[in-house]
Amino acid sequence: MKTTLRTDITVKDICQGFQYNEYEGKGLFGLSGTLTIQPEYQRNYIYADGKKDVAVIDSLLKEYPLGLIYFVKVAEEKFEVLDGQQRITSFGRYVTNKFAVKDENGMEQYFDGLPTDKQKIILDAKLVIYECEGEESEIKEWFKTINIVGVPLNEQEVNNAIFSGPFVTLAKAEFSSSQTAEVQKWGAYIKGSEKRQDFLERALDWVSKGQIVPYMSRHRYDDNIRELTSYFNSVIDWVSTTFEDVEKEMCGLEWGRLYEEYHATAYSPKKVSEQLQALLEDPFVINKKGIFEYILGGSVDKKLLNVRIFSEATKKSVYATQTTKAKDEGTSNCPHCAMGHGANKTKIWALKDMDADHVTAWINGGSTDIENCQTLCKTDNRAKGNR
Ligand SMILES: [Zn+2]
Repeated sequence: MKTTLRTDITVKDICQGFQYNEYEGKGLFGLSGTLTIQPEYQRNYIYADGKKDVAVIDSLLKEYPLGLIYFVKVAEEKFEVLDGQQRITSFGRYVTNKFAVKDENGMEQYFDGLPTDKQKIILDAKLVIYECEGEESEIKEWFKTINIVGVPLNEQEVNNAIFSGPFVTLAKAEFSSSQTAEVQKWGAYIKGSEKRQDFLERALDWVSKGQIVPYMSRHRYDDNIRELTSYFNSVIDWVSTTFEDVEKEMCGLEWGRLYEEYHATAYSPKKVSEQLQALLEDPFVINKKGIFEYILGGSVDKKLLNVRIFSEATKKSVYATQTTKAKDEGTSNCPHCAMGHGANKTKIWALKDMDADHVTAWINGGSTDIENCQTLCKTDNRAKGNR
């Protein structure tokens, strides 16, 4: 059987000559008459429930992919939809104004009523289509394997089936055989299992920078997987030498991206380990998974850690104490304003105009407790944050 990947066909192309039979509940034809949407052996259109069909249109409007679609080539320039007829019928019916979807203001919108830019987003959406060519029995057999009841193939398993050949055979031997000692090591950094092709998927994702399908298509008939393994090993070696400790929070991080961004920077593994342990134990660090990128980036981007902030109750209580004291002394309740010589030297700020601030910065070991809290006017707090 022969399969060809098509990424050039748009929603607009399919909708050329789209015909839907309301009586039989079937999408009939599209692609200027060359496509039979509902061959006899397919079930009828079941997406017209105001949910699944609407979800298809929402996906298109958000420019999300609709997933893989399979065509069977039955003759020269004649195709049948093997998988995807529900999605195709949904957008075909929408584009021909058979149903409406709610817009962001809750208004029902038919296709004709959409602004032209939104119409264009739908019509220009490109589909990912596999054209299969072969004997009917062959194709039906294959269709069964991609739709095993109860255990649907995941995306990588489908890709392996589609691009079967020497490259996939070698890649599976390397990344999905549980015989190797490496598998256990990989599991520390990559989520999933070798059996479901999760390690192979990650290896392909990293080397192709997220472009797995085109990469597999390009290398389908290669007799070696050198590029794939050497890139994968570079990433794993880099992670395991940069971070000497293996922590459960490392599993499933975007190591391919982090490698690209940081592998040219030199680190002291000993220092990295000390920083890592301190942050893992720090009760104020909420996002433990962000610690690794935080350290790699030079310990600057605190947003990655989602550090605990002062509660509203703490802020109010500190504000009250500070304000009473300031009024007694005739100074501003913002300690920075009080020290200055400007017009705000004696200004009493309202609670809403002040921020809670760490007296000793969190980064220098200051805790997020009431004893380490002061309120500053928003201007001074921002100025302090920028230093
Ligand atoms: Zn101030």
